[in-house]
Amino acid sequence: EGLKKYFPTHSGLLGKQSGYVKAVDDVSFYVNEGETLGIVGESGCGKSTTGRMLMRLLEPTEGKVTFDGKELTNISNSEMRKARREIQMVFQDPYASLNPRHTVEKILMEPLIVHNIGDAKSRKKKVYDFLEIVGLSSYHAKRYPHQFSGGQRQRIGIARALMTNPKLIIADEPVSALDVSIQAQVLNLMQDLQKELKLTYIFIAHDLGVVRHISDRVGVMYLGKMAELATSESLYAEPLHPYTKALLSAVPVPDPEFKREQIILEGDIPSPSNPPTGCTFHTRCPFKMDVCTTVVPKLEEVKTGHFVACHLYKEAVQH
Ligand code: SF4
Ligand code: MG
Repeated sequence: EGLKKYFPTHSGLLGKQSGYVKAVDDVSFYVNEGETLGIVGESGCGKSTTGRMLMRLLEPTEGKVTFDGKELTNISNSEMRKARREIQMVFQDPYASLNPRHTVEKILMEPLIVHNIGDAKSRKKKVYDFLEIVGLSSYHAKRYPHQFSGGQRQRIGIARALMTNPKLIIADEPVSALDVSIQAQVLNLMQDLQKELKLTYIFIAHDLGVVRHISDRVGVMYLGKMAELATSESLYAEPLHPYTKALLSAVPVPDPEFKREQIILEGDIPSPSNPPTGCTFHTRCPFKMDVCTTVVPKLEEVKTGHFVACHLYKEAVQH
């Protein structure tokens, strides 16, 4: 609720603080138990920063995170360490996040030791069980990360996240570094695991195509703000925000009969240290109106469950 992350910027010889990069600027959303919320946007939009703030790997500048009825943003660091047993993260680059000098067995054992779960014997059993669950085998336990393919390494990253029996997995671009053919396998695995283990996912991606089939709802971020948030069905069938429309223009449509409005964006994302006034998308928006350059549009519900932050929909806002 109202999540913000402002990083101070410094300039001059004395490094005086000169301003802020508003990496995340007033973002609110929820995820229901058992569902998958996709969060999508180009690099620098604040999606990873948002994911990290949810489990306080980064402290929010402002705002509140509540998990399972408990407010995480006002508990002590040691309580937060305990809470992380239930919220785990899967990272984009499994190679960078797996210690190259540790065997897979040691890597998977570590969360159990950190959270003081089980004894030596049950830990070992759990490691072997989870290797099987993610499609590897006990035979891989004594190997090192470099001895695996990218897809296998991501399976190890997923297994590690599951060791503590978490309820929520925050996956930050878990398939972006993988070959397209391997992406589908890892996505299928994640979906199977979700059903089997009753997991809730927050799935961060830079492209709407990747999250389409796995997300119940999708949020689209632009320059630190949520531009649109809706059920997948509604978002892909009837995107409202011009930015979402532009992102979808780049995603191939399976049905050639179905013609989608094509919006090709010009220019790059402006720097978050000096974002445009009003609607931060106005410098690239083909529908820009006068009001857009001065007034920040709020994320509002314009159809049941479909939220958009854009002045084009003022009339449609439900109160
Ligand atoms: Fe475009 Fe204005 Fe809507 Fe922003 S508020 S997306 S500039 S129409
Ligand atoms: Mg990122």
